[in-house]
Amino acid sequence: MKEYKLNCTNCDESYEKETINFRCDVCNEPLELEEVKIGKINDGNILTQTNLERYQEFFPYLTIDKKLNLNEGFTSLVSSEELAKEYGIKNIYFKNETQNPTWSFKDRGTVTGVVRAMNLGYKKIGTVSTGNMATSVAAYGSKAGLKTYVLVKEGIADEKIKPIAIYGPKLIEVDGDYSKLYDKSLSIGRENDIYFINSDAPYRVEGYKTMAFEICEQLDFNIPDYVIVPTSAGGDVRGIEKGFREFFNVGLINKIPKMIVVQAAGCSPIYNAFKDSKLEIERVMDHDTIAHAIENPYPPSGNQVLRMLKRNGGLAIAVNDEDILECQRKLSSLGLFVQPASATSLAAIDKLYKEDIIGELDSIVCILTGSGLKYTAALDKHELDVYACKLEELNDYIKKVGK
Ligand SMILES: *Cc1c(COP(=O)(O)O)cnc(C)c1O
Ligand SMILES: [Zn+2]
Repeated sequence: MKEYKLNCTNCDESYEKETINFRCDVCNEPLELEEVKIGKINDGNILTQTNLERYQEFFPYLTIDKKLNLNEGFTSLVSSEELAKEYGIKNIYFKNETQNPTWSFKDRGTVTGVVRAMNLGYKKIGTVSTGNMATSVAAYGSKAGLKTYVLVKEGIADEKIKPIAIYGPKLIEVDGDYSKLYDKSLSIGRENDIYFINSDAPYRVEGYKTMAFEICEQLDFNIPDYVIVPTSAGGDVRGIEKGFREFFNVGLINKIPKMIVVQAAGCSPIYNAFKDSKLEIERVMDHDTIAHAIENPYPPSGNQVLRMLKRNGGLAIAVNDEDILECQRKLSSLGLFVQPASATSLAAIDKLYKEDIIGELDSIVCILTGSGLKYTAALDKHELDVYACKLEELNDYIKKVGK
């Protein structure tokens, strides 16, 4: 078997596959697994085959253990002719990642992270997150029988912390500068033999490739022009883009779609740097948005996302909370209830069309990253109708309401 290396995404350093480094010792930028150049999709029935079994050849550096999966992936791709018409584009598709075991795409990267940890012989894993990643790592860690450490910010709401606690991890609220926790977790992990599967950990990013693989299959290899990805740390968009690149390498597709990174205007470090043609992101000091799942003021893969966009020909955009909420409502009317962070992908389309960046011949995939039930507090921001009447009056009332 060929030895796969981890390459620095920024400088010429490369590391043997045994490394437990996530970032480069020389420049501190994220590492990334070498691209797969040969491979095919395995035959099989997706009702009985796991996602990683189907795409196993694109994970040659993992020894896949079927016991660790919770049937992540194989989510639906929903098209909407009505919305395509409304926005003036050819096709619009929604990749419904809310269908994953813990209701967000994070599960795809958690499973590859956990497989890697097990392959290396770790008994303990961890993550730094207050949201979907925490839930996901807690669930997979529990399934794998690993001791799982979840580090969260001190004082987070019950609504957010209890759905993590239910899986039984060692859940620790850390009092102090939360922005330091990502770096700190890597040194704590080294000292205590805990394999941290953070937002842009190389083997987590790998798992996100399967979204691209499925989109290719679901569209019969007619590749969309754009894929819009709500972006925080940058792991998701990096993984999706790499997935398309690898399918291109092996000859399964003949072009790579352009990536559109969407951020909330209230916290948009990647967009800010992109718009000013900067090569490095700057920390956002004051941030505020309803899209909590993408509210990262200093994304660890921010600089690499900028480099990736340059190579890929993609772009970054920011959308405001008002538009995000409007799109959350609009998606619900299609039967897709997503969290505000995920609704940013639809909000991006309108803006891009008005700015003449996308046109009527374009076909677009929006990644709906996570479920609306993850953040029910956002429902208070909507005007929602609930009616009430007495049982004896129901018959008459229904006639009235129907008008
Ligand atoms: C994690 C997350 C994102 C952002 O993904 P990154 O890999 O951090 O860029 C977007 N939406 C939701 C719902 C998420 O949970
Ligand atoms: Zn480097």
